Formats: sequence, C-alpha cells, structure tokens
Amino acid sequence: HGQTLQLNRYPIRQHETLQAWDAADEYLINQVEDMKQQQALTLDAERPVLIMNDSFGALACWFARQGQTVSVGDSYIARTASQHNLAANALPDIAFADCLAPVPPQTQLVLLKLPKNNRLLVWQLTQLCAALPEDCVVIAAAKARDIHTSTLKLFEKHLGPTRTSLAVKKARLIFCQPDKNLAAALPEAQRWAVPEYKLTLTNHANVFSGESLDIGARLLLEHIPQDPVLKHIIDLGCGNGVIGLQAARLNPQAKVTCVDESYMAVASCRENADLNLTNPAQLEAKVDNCLESMANSDADLVLCNPPFHQQNTITDHIAWQMFCDAKQSLKQHGRLIVIGNRHLGYDGKLKRLFAKVQKIAQNPKFVVYQAEK
Ligand code: SAM
Repeated sequence: HGQTLQLNRYPIRQHETLQAWDAADEYLINQVEDMKQQQALTLDAERPVLIMNDSFGALACWFARQGQTVSVGDSYIARTASQHNLAANALPDIAFADCLAPVPPQTQLVLLKLPKNNRLLVWQLTQLCAALPEDCVVIAAAKARDIHTSTLKLFEKHLGPTRTSLAVKKARLIFCQPDKNLAAALPEAQRWAVPEYKLTLTNHANVFSGESLDIGARLLLEHIPQDPVLKHIIDLGCGNGVIGLQAARLNPQAKVTCVDESYMAVASCRENADLNLTNPAQLEAKVDNCLESMANSDADLVLCNPPFHQQNTITDHIAWQMFCDAKQSLKQHGRLIVIGNRHLGYDGKLKRLFAKVQKIAQNPKFVVYQAEK
C-alpha cells in the first residue's frame, strides 16, 4: 500500500529471531486499506482511530499519519516499543493511554488485537460499548486458533452483532457493530482476601493471578526476610503487589518499590498499598521494563516471582533480564530472592551472575533461591 516500515521488538536484542508484527497485524492493515480503496470506509482526520493492544507498534506506525490516532494497551513494553518504532520510522507521535482511561469520544475506527486475557477483553468491550458512536467500525484480529466460539459470544454479549472473516495466513478478523442497547456498567475489579496475611487485594482486569493468590507467591510470602537493616526493598514483577505489601509490613523501616510492566498491575498495587498499609507512602508502585530505570539504586533486597512468557511467546529472557537488572540495582552484598518452577533451572542463571546462590526453600513444584551480590 505504498508504506514501508522497519519494526523492532523491545527490548532490542542482538540476535533477535522473533518478528515485531504478526499475520493478524497484516490482515488488519490490508483490510482497512482495501475498505478505504473501495470507499467502504472514509476516515475523517478530526475523529480518533483507536488501536488496542498493539504488540510492538506495527499498527501505531501504520496509522500514525491518520491524524488522531490513540493507542490503548496495558503494556509498558508495548508502549515503549511503539514509541521507538515511531521515532525510528520518522513518524509523528501519537497519543497513548492505559486501559483504565476512558475511550476517546467520537472514535470512528477501532482496531483491536485480541488480548490473551478474557477479563481484559470483557473490560475493553464494555468500555467500547458505552463510549462508541454507532457508526464506528470495529475490527478485531488474532491468530485463528485464538478465536473461539466463546470469544465471539463475548463480542455479541458485550458490544454487538459479530461476524468473522476467512483465515488468511492463520489469522482471522472479527467485525462487530456496536449496539448501544448492550451498554452496561464496567465490571468491578476483583477483590479478595488472603486471611493468613490479613491482606485484601484488588485486581484490575489484566492482573496476573487476579482471581486468587498464585501458588508460587504463596510460597515466596513465607520467605520474605524481616530485618531492621533493610532500607530499600524492590518487588520486581509485582502484579497486585502481594509480595511488596508483605515485605513493607514486615519491614516498616524500609522503602518498598514495586515494579511491573502492566499499568493495571501498578494501579492495583497502588490501591492495595492504600488499602493495606498503615503508612501507604512507604510503598511506591511504578511501571518499568524490569528495572531499566533503577540501575545503581542501592537496594538491599529484590524479591521476584518472574513471568515466563511475553505476550504470547514462551521465553526465559525476561527472567534473565530481571536477574541482570536486580544485580545492577542491588548494593554490594544485597540479596535477590527468587521463586521459580523446579524445571526452570533458575539456579544455573543465578550462579552466572551472583557470588553466592543458595536454595532456601522448596516444595514439590517450586524452589526459592537466594543470591547475594
Ligand atoms: N508478584 C506477583 C505475584 O507473586 O503474584 C506477580 C508475579 S507474575 C508471575 C510476574 C509479573 O511480572 C506479572 O505481573 C507481569 O506483568 C510482570 N512482568 C512481566 N514482564 C515484565 C517486565 N519486563 N518488567 C516488569 N514486570 C514484568
């Protein structure tokens, strides 16, 4: 269609084997360009085009010159990748928003990459239904194997009449016509208690293990040190903040920084600190890619329950980056305490980075390691 883009994933890695876009992105772009050419779609430079859940900015870049493009998503990494790719292709800046922000008024076109998590999908469809004008064109896309009958039912229930396209390169499109009669209140954030620790946890739609306490987190909770010498503790990949909150309670003298790449996680963690801590200012919750913005921060302790996938790709490079960044953020003799599935073999990775590594706990499924700088 007369536009060429150079796209990178983020963080940029030397021997990257994975592409920064997929067949669903291509299908969406081709669909919109074909509709424009056939005059089935005329875009108005004054009305927003909404891109949802873009992975690394392929859609943001393609539609950046549209005039009023807004990219909405829950991932700081996706946003940073999009910003890098826009700059690298000399494209204009576009607006970014997180998923808790209201949908811009008068949106004319929504291009939605199906999120992995159905709770986030329902949240987004409900937001769209309440806000979109009825002439708005909504096209979603995903790998065909990720579009189930139950997925289409969610569109029918929460947004409007829905049909799908044929598969192209194993991707499919979903066309949905917003129906105002289906508009409903946004789903409540999930809130539940962990009575053993007297914690109440609020979880926005895309938070990891948002419906119950993760079993890995449960074991890690038992091994958080309580020590008056700890002045700065980091909870890396904090999710709803359960680990950081307990660390803050055990160590009221310490400043606790909770970091996640999900905006909804960080918002949940902030709310949970306000709800559970006597001194909420003890805890700061922030978005980052691992601890990119916190090198040399003199931390005494990093606590981490690492993820093992990025978007839809199973990978261990995030755990590796988390361990490398933890080392950077720790002071000399500072400690990293990590929980992992037995089969992940984190001890090998930790031994490459840290002077002393020991197993401090285990159960049939998980191992907790402590590594000292
Ligand atoms: N600490 C919480 C717990 O124990 O229940 C959540 C742990 S969950 C296994 C891992 C968390 O890491 C997720 O909340 C995920 O959003 C976050 N995460 C994934 N990639 C990340 C990155 N590159 N930087 C920061 N956080 C990341």
